[in-house]
Amino acid sequence: MADSHSVQGTLSLVYRLQTMDVEVLRLTLEIEESSTLIGVARSEVESLERQIESSRKELEDLETRRSQIDVELRETERLLVEGKKRQKELKHPRDIQAYLSEMEFRRDEKDRFEEEILHILENQDALRKKIADFDAALVREKGSFEILSAEKGEQIQERHRRIGELNQERSDVENAFPDDLLKTYNRLRISHRNGMVVARLLEGSCEACRMNLPPRTVTEVKKRQRIVTCLFCQRWLYLPDRGTEGEPVSQGSLSQDMRQR
Ligand SMILES: [Zn+2]
Repeated sequence: MADSHSVQGTLSLVYRLQTMDVEVLRLTLEIEESSTLIGVARSEVESLERQIESSRKELEDLETRRSQIDVELRETERLLVEGKKRQKELKHPRDIQAYLSEMEFRRDEKDRFEEEILHILENQDALRKKIADFDAALVREKGSFEILSAEKGEQIQERHRRIGELNQERSDVENAFPDDLLKTYNRLRISHRNGMVVARLLEGSCEACRMNLPPRTVTEVKKRQRIVTCLFCQRWLYLPDRGTEGEPVSQGSLSQDMRQR
């Protein structure tokens, strides 16, 4: 790289590296976002499946309870029929009284069993409706989950592929970097918000912090004789090429700039 030792060359190299790093970061965030969306859709499907399962279990338990009561009801009915047969043999008022209380108790019990069975049947009806609704919702959710995971899955793959390309490009650019500059860049990348080390000078303002820079600073940047930092956010100011080459950067001006930070 012919211009790699000029201020402009250095800045444009750092800017290229930064553009790739910002792009990798953006793609990584998009992958995370897509994975989260897929995860949310999956957990909605799973939650419906759990609700259906627990409603089916509830329905089964009600069925078991209903057949238990059914057995008890039939026994009570049998006792009532038997009691009626016994009635004619009773002579003593005390026996008749005991018989009447027993029959009353049995009839109450029969009513209670019948009422409970009715109640269970109503609950079972409601549960069946609920399960049917869940089933319909599950079909819908599964459908959207499949569409979403196919679509997002493809995007995720595409982004991984792009990140792979960028990493390849990045190592090519890194090879053109002076070693100490790469170290400085990596250090600054961590300390600056959004990983931005270089900011373009756009119409007299810093691209990163958007502050207006004094004319003197702008003139300095335009001279391209040394790395000029933004007074406000300390990023390296970079004026993209318009075909002019800058003066060679001396190690001195670069490290002096580092000391100012
Ligand atoms: Zn700034």
